[in-house]
Amino acid sequence: MADVEDTTKRKHLVTTIKERCRVCYTCVRECPAKAIRIINGQAEVITERCIGCGNCIKVCSQNAKVFRNETDRVKQIINSGNPVAAIVAPSFPAEFSEIRNHRLLVSLIRALGFKYVAEVSFGADLVAGEYKKVLNTQTYPPVISSDCPAIVSYIEHYHPDLIGSLANIVSPMIAMGRVMRKRYGKNLNVVFIGPCIAKKDESPEIDAAITFRELRDMISQRGLKPADVSATEFDPPLGGKGGIFPVSRGLLNTVGIKEDIFERNVIVAEGRSAFQEAIKEFESGQIAQEHLELLCCDGCIMGPGMSPYPFFSSLSRRYRKRASVSDYVLHKLETMDIKQWEKDYEEFCTIDMFRAFTNRDIRYVKPDTKEIDAVLQKMGKNGPQDFLDCGACGYDSCEDHAIAIIRGLAEHEMCLPFTIEKLHNYIRELNVSNEKLANTQEALRHSEKLAGMGQLSAGIAHELNNPLGIITMYSNILKDEANADDPIRTDLELIAEQAERCKKIVGGLLNFARKNQVNFADVNINHLLEQAISTVIYPPTVKISLESMIRNPMVQIDIDQMTQVLTNLMKNSVEAMPEGGGLIQVRLTEADDDISIHIADTGTGIETENMSKLFTPFFTTKPIGKGTGLGLPIIYGIVKMHKGNISVKSNADPGKGQTGTTFTIMLPRIAKS
Ligand code: ADP
Ligand code: MG
Repeated sequence: MADVEDTTKRKHLVTTIKERCRVCYTCVRECPAKAIRIINGQAEVITERCIGCGNCIKVCSQNAKVFRNETDRVKQIINSGNPVAAIVAPSFPAEFSEIRNHRLLVSLIRALGFKYVAEVSFGADLVAGEYKKVLNTQTYPPVISSDCPAIVSYIEHYHPDLIGSLANIVSPMIAMGRVMRKRYGKNLNVVFIGPCIAKKDESPEIDAAITFRELRDMISQRGLKPADVSATEFDPPLGGKGGIFPVSRGLLNTVGIKEDIFERNVIVAEGRSAFQEAIKEFESGQIAQEHLELLCCDGCIMGPGMSPYPFFSSLSRRYRKRASVSDYVLHKLETMDIKQWEKDYEEFCTIDMFRAFTNRDIRYVKPDTKEIDAVLQKMGKNGPQDFLDCGACGYDSCEDHAIAIIRGLAEHEMCLPFTIEKLHNYIRELNVSNEKLANTQEALRHSEKLAGMGQLSAGIAHELNNPLGIITMYSNILKDEANADDPIRTDLELIAEQAERCKKIVGGLLNFARKNQVNFADVNINHLLEQAISTVIYPPTVKISLESMIRNPMVQIDIDQMTQVLTNLMKNSVEAMPEGGGLIQVRLTEADDDISIHIADTGTGIETENMSKLFTPFFTTKPIGKGTGLGLPIIYGIVKMHKGNISVKSNADPGKGQTGTTFTIMLPRIAKS
């Protein structure tokens, strides 16, 4: 049995450029190994779980995923002075379609310092021959081809039970490396150049593996152009039909193997969904009689190491690439020296093509249902009706997403419906806060205004108090001195009466300005209300009711001031019902630490535009001599001195139902200093 590898020591193959990652979860979705973790809103490849298929690189529209660049390592190998061979994957015509004559490409590679430049396709010829030998044995159990390193890695990591089904045959790259060393010396360094990034970690036999993209970089860094070199052919041995392998839907289909195997069919599955499905069916025994040819990409020509098409990135140019490779191979087959190829084949087909596989089992244990359900519930998914399986998170189902969260690979926020719902709630909360803020601002503006007016009023009141006292006193003295029948007496009486009225107004102003002291006393609020009601003068058409819904009637308040508040409010109510009379309902309610007095009338109501002016001193809608506009400002001042609150609701529009006004005064039970 194969050994278990310590995967933690592996070098990363793919990394994320954090600044570029826009967290669209496309890489999560396209990763067959689910080796991408979203952490703090960033996608991160988990090296130990990565199979190197490069799907994430291909699908990232932001180019946020990059593979390990090994050009520096290749330069080092070349500079070491040891002879180095470049072995070029058969998909090269698809990459370098602009270089019509492949010999110019060969010379460009040579110019980088490679002593030999050979084709991997000869290795593919040998490997195909090996498959043929093995599979022609009728008793041979069905195999899974092992030429795609990402597939091998996938099986070793995620389906280790199938390791026994992998063909024990090396890949064309390894075969070619062995060929080169046999022909050009054991110490030869071998560098693979191809479309694949999984090759970088395939085997220590190959000194470095770079992609076509990296090769282009090296060529352009050296400022080399096809025009600067003269054409040279690949170094022998030259490849034959194996060159068609990257486009011919797999190695088993190459060089006529398929036709030679009568007993069994070859199922070819390319691309991430297809190969996963095929493995699942193979593992479950549904297709146990067929050989599997699996490729991670849609043919090697679509590998992540191919340069992206610069002009239309959405254009894969798949068929253009296929055509380039087939043109090259067809032309080669027409012109090749068959005799020489057969000689080479004879010479090298004896080299050892065996390879073994390693159990790298890295599968997770499935969490228990309870744990999964708890995570699902956290995302607002309480039953099948909530499992949308929309795939927006990158996982096929809500359950898979929940499992990934438990494993620390995913975050709740990746669930789009959940996040949208959350956002809606935020917006709602924000609206409520905004509204509260606006109300508070309005109240603040109001109290600032009142405070300003309070200061002014207090000043005026203070100045007026003394002269008014003098007017009252002297008019009374003069009145007393005048004869009883002197007509001036009535004038003096009027002066004294009006001066008295002025004093009252001034007293009110002082109240409003909170310049008065509050004398708190323990009071039974029920009694206070009964008494206040009894002092109000009201016509017989008006009915007053009192309803107390409190169990504890004791409060600490200033009796005189609170009586003034209540009588003022009831007076206003009476005045709002001039003709037909109506009803005044006084109600008492309580909460833990406070009580509320509600005074509701069926009067005319207050026009909406007047609502904000009610507590402004001197605002009145009553005729001169009737209203002073000081009632409510004084009430406001008193309530505030009691650390309470006053609010008002009113309807003045009979179209909207019964007109009327309700004032509510909330007072803390215990007087606070
Ligand atoms: P005044 O009663 O001297 O006008 P107030 O400050 O007591 O001054 O009231 C200001 C104004 O608020 C009143 O003129 C009236 O328009 C309005 N108002 C107060 N209470 C009521 C009520 N219960 N019903 C209708 N309007 C009211
Ligand atoms: Mg009034």
